Amino acid sequence: MTRIAVVGAAGRMGCEVVRAALEDDSFELIGGVVEPEAPELGADLGELCGWGRSGVIATEDPPEKAEALIEFTTPEATAEHLAYGKPAVIGTTGLSEKQLAEVERAARSVPIVIAPNMSVGVNLVREVVRELSGKLGRDYDVEIVEAHHRNKVDAPSGTALLLARAIAEGREKDLDEVAVYGREGRAPRQQGEIGIHALRGGAVVGEHRVVFYGLGEEIEISHRALSRRTFATGALRAARFVAGAEPGLYSMRDVLG
Ligand code: NAD
Repeated sequence: MTRIAVVGAAGRMGCEVVRAALEDDSFELIGGVVEPEAPELGADLGELCGWGRSGVIATEDPPEKAEALIEFTTPEATAEHLAYGKPAVIGTTGLSEKQLAEVERAARSVPIVIAPNMSVGVNLVREVVRELSGKLGRDYDVEIVEAHHRNKVDAPSGTALLLARAIAEGREKDLDEVAVYGREGRAPRQQGEIGIHALRGGAVVGEHRVVFYGLGEEIEISHRALSRRTFATGALRAARFVAGAEPGLYSMRDVLG
């Protein structure tokens, strides 16, 4: 049994992880962290997340005994929480270069898994698009289109960036030099560009399409998350991995082998 605590336990993803952990006998949910002075402080986590009474209480800090923390909050809160100094799974997206450097520094003394998308499917799609991009070469124009619910804060999604980086890697290019984020006005396509586009609306859990446009054919790979449970299950898998890992920075590729 892995003893875990969820940081950001009152959020959409936090609650999904709480429910998934309560339903999985191989995890013991021993705590959940909510924002300082939040009205949820002291609430029963199961009840807070619509699961029913769990006997686990929302607090301001994680319990000492947690073997792994699972964090889905904001970039600022995630950077602050590195001070907990515990093995952690970070699902928060939109971290700045500086915040990512802080995560890297913290990972010198504790194991940390950071993954903008915890789903098994997306991480396999990443491998596929990297290989396709390398094999198809620059004659094929690549565009990524992602869609998320109306409350998502960061754009493009961390997953779109993960896929874009894999495509750039397949072509041995630096993403910063070839990425184009949306187009407006006079904006002819340059060879080798990777176009990235974000749609926002309604309750979309997460959709990603990668299209390779050739002159005589088009190849489209798409992934659609049907529920947040797929991310929560991946996060629990990562928590089991990180609880037993050496200090270092890991990705879902390490978790999934
Ligand atoms: P949300 O707004 O529903 O939840 C975020 C929660 O964090 C809120 O409840 C907020 O109160 C809490 N929070 C903020 N500051 C805090 C602090 N200092 N201490 C404790 N809690 C704090 O958002 P969400 O939809 O759950 O998404 C959260 C993050 O996870 C986003 O960055 C999102 O992009 C990312 N996400 C990642 C994956 C993945 O697979 N990696 C999947 C879905 C969402």
